[in-house]
Amino acid sequence: MNSVSKGRNEGIKSVMKDFVERAVNLYENMRDQPVCPSAREDALELLRERQVPQEGRPIEEVFEEMLQEVYSGAPLAQHPRNFSCVPSTASLFSWMGDVMTGAFNPHAGCRSNAPAAGMIEEKLIRWMCGLAGYPKGSGGVFVSGGSMANLTALTAARDLKLPFSERSRGVVYVTDQTHSSVSKGLHIIGFDRQQIHIVPTDGAFRMNVSALKEAVRKDRAAGKKPFAVVASAGSTNTGSVDPLREIGLLCREYNMWMHVDGAFGASALLSKRQRKLLSGIELSDSLSWDAHKWMMQTYSCSVVLVRRQSDLLRSFSAHPEYLKDAEYAEDGTEFWDLGPELTRPARSLKLWLTLQAVGSLGMERMIDHGCAMAELAERVLRTYPGWEIVSSASLGIVNFRYVPFGISSESHLNRINQEIAREITASGYAQVFTTELQGKKVLRMCTIHPQITEEDIHNTIERLRQSEAARRAGRQLDKTAS
Ligand SMILES: *Cc1c(COP(=O)(O)O)cnc(C)c1O
Repeated sequence: MNSVSKGRNEGIKSVMKDFVERAVNLYENMRDQPVCPSAREDALELLRERQVPQEGRPIEEVFEEMLQEVYSGAPLAQHPRNFSCVPSTASLFSWMGDVMTGAFNPHAGCRSNAPAAGMIEEKLIRWMCGLAGYPKGSGGVFVSGGSMANLTALTAARDLKLPFSERSRGVVYVTDQTHSSVSKGLHIIGFDRQQIHIVPTDGAFRMNVSALKEAVRKDRAAGKKPFAVVASAGSTNTGSVDPLREIGLLCREYNMWMHVDGAFGASALLSKRQRKLLSGIELSDSLSWDAHKWMMQTYSCSVVLVRRQSDLLRSFSAHPEYLKDAEYAEDGTEFWDLGPELTRPARSLKLWLTLQAVGSLGMERMIDHGCAMAELAERVLRTYPGWEIVSSASLGIVNFRYVPFGISSESHLNRINQEIAREITASGYAQVFTTELQGKKVLRMCTIHPQITEEDIHNTIERLRQSEAARRAGRQLDKTAS
C-alpha cells in the first residue's frame, strides 16, 4: 500500500480540488468553445507512445497528462450546439453524483451491501413506472443504457411467450426506424435475422399497424410464433412515436409482448404538454428509458421497466451458494435477480441527486424547451425557399435538406447536404450530422440541450444557408437559369 501512503493522498486532494475548479469552468464556458476541437491528432500521437509503467508516477504528472491527452480535444457531446446523434444533456449535478458515488463505491447488486442506494433505486423505479402508467406489481432495474434495457426486456419477453422448443419459430416485429440495438440484442439472445420482421412505416415514420396486423396473421398461418412487437417512443432518426395504443391492443389480441423502446423519448413523460404523444405506453409490457439521454445524466444511466416485475425474476434470478448471506430483501428479490448484472454501480444515485436539485418541473421545462427549439428550427427553415422539411419537429428532432431550385438529381442533392453538414461541423460552431430518410440524405438537428438559445438556432441555420456548399449549389443554378 506504499503508493497510497499519506503523502500520496495529499497529492490527490490538491489535484482533485484543482480539477473541480477546472471542470466547473469547462461547463461554464462551454458555449464559447468549439464543439469539435481540431487539434486532436497531436494528443493521440503522444498517447500512442505511452505504456503501463512498472513503477508508479507522481499523480500531479499523471493528472496533467491525462487532462491534455485524454480529456481535452474530444468532441463535446454536452455542448449546447451539438445537434448530432442524441447530444448529452449531462448536468454538473449528475457529474457530482458520479464523483460521490465513485468515492463511496457502493455495491448496488443487492440491498445488504447498499441499503439506501437500494431504497433510492426502488423509489425511482416506482416513480418512473407511475409516469408510464404501469400498475401495481410493476418494477424494473437500472442498467447501463438503452441497448442493455432492450436486451433485458426482450429476454423476459422471450422467456414468457416462447417455450424453449418453439424458439426457432418465434417472430418479433420492428420497423425500418427501430434502433439497431434491438436487432443486436435479439441476436445475442439467440434469434436469427429472418426472425425479425421489419414492418414498414407511414409518411410520418410511424409503424404501419395494418401492415403489422397483416404480417402477424400471415406468420401465424405459416406456423410461426409471433411473440413480440417493439414500438418506438421517440425514434432516433426522427423522434417519431409509433401508434402505441393500437399496437398495444393488437399485442393483447394476439398474445404478444409489447416492448416500447423509449430510450430517447420516454423522458417526454415528464412533460404535461408532450406526454399526450406517448399515450398508450401504459399498455406495454416493458419500456426502455435512458436517463443519460434526456434527463441530464452522465453515461451510463438507464432503466428497463416492466409491467410485472415477476417477468424479470423469471429470466434473471439465480441463487448461488456464495450469495446466500447477502440476500436480504424481504421478498427475496435483489437487483441482481432482475437483470444481467451482478456487481454494478449505484446508477440511480446521480439521478436522484439531480432530481432533488432540479425538481420534476425543472425536468419538464427542459423537455418543453428542447421540443420548442426543434419547432423553432422548423419554422425558420420553412421561411427559406429551397429548404425542405423531411420530418417535422417531433420530440426535439427535425430533419431537413437543401434542395436548390432546379437540382433534381438525388445523388447530387445528397452530396450537397453531406458537404453542408461537414462544413458546419468542421467550423466548430455547431455539430450537425446527416441521416438517411426515404433514401435521401438529410440534415438532422436534435435540439434537446437545456442551454440552447433561440439565437443558437437562428445562427446555426444561417450558417448552414451561408455555407460554401449551399452557396455554390445556389450559384450554379443562377448560372444555368441565366
Ligand atoms: C440511444 C438509443 C438506444 C441505445 O441506447 P444506448 O444507451 O446508447 O445503449 C436505443 N434505442 C433508441 C431509440 C435510442 O435512441
